[in-house]
Amino acid sequence: MSNTTELSPAIYRIRVAVPVHLYDCFDYQVSAEQYAQAAVGARVSVSFGRQNLVGLITEKLPLDAPLDSRFKLKAITELLDDHAILDEQILNLVKWSASYYQFPIGEVMHSAIPTLLRQGKPYNLLALTWKIIDQKAEDKLKRSLKQQDAYKILKLHPHGTAETILNWSGVETATLKALEKKDIIHCELEPQNFSPEPVQLAQMPLTANDEQKVAIQSIVKSLKKYQAFLLDGLTGSGKTEVYLQAMYEVLKQGKQVLVLVPEIGLTPQTVSRFQSRFHCNIALLHSGLNDSKRLQAWQHAQTGKASIIIGTRSALFTPMPNLGLIILDEEHDLSFKQHEGFRYHARDVAMYRAHLQKCPIVLGSATPSIDSFHLAQLGKLSRLELNHRAGGAIMPKMHLIDLKIAKKQHGISETLIKEIQDRLDKKEQVLIFLNRRGYAPVLICESCAWQANCPHCDAHFTLHKKPYEHLHCHHCGTINRLPDACPQCNQSTLKPIGMGTAKVEESLNELFPNQNIVRVDRDSTSRVGSWQKIYDQIHKSEPMILLGTQMLAKGHHFPYVTLVAILDIDSGLLSVDFRATERTAQLIIQVAGRAGRGEKKGEVFLQTLRPDHPLLNTLITKDYRAFAKETLHDREIALLPPCRYAVMLRCESKSQEDNQKFLNEMTQLLRQHSGDLIDIWGPIPAPMERKAGRFQAHVVLLSTERAKLHFYVREWWQQVLFYKPSSMKLTIDVDPQELS
Ligand code: ADP
Ligand code: ZN
Ligand code: ZN
Repeated sequence: MSNTTELSPAIYRIRVAVPVHLYDCFDYQVSAEQYAQAAVGARVSVSFGRQNLVGLITEKLPLDAPLDSRFKLKAITELLDDHAILDEQILNLVKWSASYYQFPIGEVMHSAIPTLLRQGKPYNLLALTWKIIDQKAEDKLKRSLKQQDAYKILKLHPHGTAETILNWSGVETATLKALEKKDIIHCELEPQNFSPEPVQLAQMPLTANDEQKVAIQSIVKSLKKYQAFLLDGLTGSGKTEVYLQAMYEVLKQGKQVLVLVPEIGLTPQTVSRFQSRFHCNIALLHSGLNDSKRLQAWQHAQTGKASIIIGTRSALFTPMPNLGLIILDEEHDLSFKQHEGFRYHARDVAMYRAHLQKCPIVLGSATPSIDSFHLAQLGKLSRLELNHRAGGAIMPKMHLIDLKIAKKQHGISETLIKEIQDRLDKKEQVLIFLNRRGYAPVLICESCAWQANCPHCDAHFTLHKKPYEHLHCHHCGTINRLPDACPQCNQSTLKPIGMGTAKVEESLNELFPNQNIVRVDRDSTSRVGSWQKIYDQIHKSEPMILLGTQMLAKGHHFPYVTLVAILDIDSGLLSVDFRATERTAQLIIQVAGRAGRGEKKGEVFLQTLRPDHPLLNTLITKDYRAFAKETLHDREIALLPPCRYAVMLRCESKSQEDNQKFLNEMTQLLRQHSGDLIDIWGPIPAPMERKAGRFQAHVVLLSTERAKLHFYVREWWQQVLFYKPSSMKLTIDVDPQELS
């Protein structure tokens, strides 16, 4: 056995990240020729169990690397790329985040590449594009239906269409060649590499005010090194102008900028602000793209063709050869944290990417997260402040309305009704915010107190009236018919309680007849283009009432809104989640920030049953920063994040007893190893104990020492997975954002 190694032929091996829910990479055998060709970061097709999967090469093993005799070495099926599709930095970013968030590396790797590449489609799928050169060729094509059809499709896309996409829509390559021969269309090969070119301005920058200047200069000064900034600026203080001017310095050097925005922030309006400032290619990456558009945008970033990449959370993993600056706007927004599967926080991973790239990152917000406030206190984020609204607008004044004593009509206080009428008379716009869609959140029987509850969740059904009357569970999606009479006592005494946006719309129509009332929520704007239409109306400066949910709260610039009313802030104050007050405060400030952005001063009215709530009072009598300071102080005393680091283990099964028993055993196991280092909370039932028919429970692990916490939890998590009964679903959430 011992002396035979020298004689046996060399075994060439590569290590592959395979998209399966396992924590290891796997070794495969390749030929000497394949070994020479294989690039780390390129795709391979391999058989795994009975499946054929697309994996990514993470390592070429040296010939003398020891052979793991536990597994039979399989050969790969084929090499799919002749070059790396993920560069070294992205590979490192993926490795780091898979390890930090304790998620299988193969799955993280897979989520970093566009779907078409995940499916094993050729890399240069879209490189060959066809374009019309003869715009008036219809008459020349009378004899061929196929050519006519192809011509029609190509006419729809003046910038060219990839051959693959044409093929998918039924246009044969032969037809294209025939048209090419007649000089009607021609074909272009998209180059795979762009040498960086300095970007020109398309529009003059605004003259920055003093605070903006300080912010821009600080960012520009650190362009060649890692530095993280917190741009803490009031709503409307001109944060975007700071981004644009800092970006220009980067773009001028032929470098790229990555701009990350919350899911809802990627409106055409945001994009057009970047587009109209610079002459350059902008790649957009968001969930609304189809697969080929996404691949195209991703490749434009990767080849350097696009100088600015604007995207939501996952755009973070896009390869960019000349990255010079990262901007993460509305950094407090919860949509930066992925809520299922690979539960990463884009803010933290983006900071790590900037660190790898040695470039600055700017986190901007009018209501920075308490986490970022904390990092700023520790000196890990450099604070930049904008304390005045740009363009001279004044911050709106806030008023609390005590719902316990106020006279009301349809749940709206008479004071507020008067104020709304006053603004409409002055031909101004009013924004009314209620974070609850549907008609009513509860349906009860007035005779016997029966309530319409979802049979699968610990939750009330929401009553919807459109497009037909029905009951809808917003947690699991169950839809039920509305009963004609009470199922318990048979009386016709069912009554909706509370109000959702659809109900408020009805009330507003009664209170303000003949006024333009527009509702914006997921139910009303699901049709493509409907939001754009509403947006155009808002910008026409006609009097109107805008009524809506979250969708209205963020980032929008509504210059004619002078009054903002928040109908119910109390639900956010009563939650068991210690971050609920932070979220409520952010929401209030963000919604309030839509008021008075133009020339006229704005006012904000908040309806509440708890006008004496200390948080509310700090927020209203002082400001968000005072609130944040107090909140951070409270968290320090209570030893809550960010003053301690947290990991949460969620458990879901058909029985709450099973959950509790298993979690108890597992926490004991952890305690044996970690001793007092980790504070263990739980197991406790989740705030919504039953969801979609399954019971939820969790434990929260807290420690002041992050490295040690992660060290113990990493080992423990593998044990937990080993002992886990197959009927149980477990997820681990590092730095959890919600206790639900
Ligand atoms: P934020 O992103 O902080 O909410 P915006 O960037 O949307 O603020 O700016 C609010 C408004 O102020 C915009 O209409 C913008 O054009 C204007 N603005 C920003 N900076 C300046 C400046 N230096 N001079 C004049 N107007 C400005
Ligand atoms: Zn009843
Ligand atoms: Zn339900």
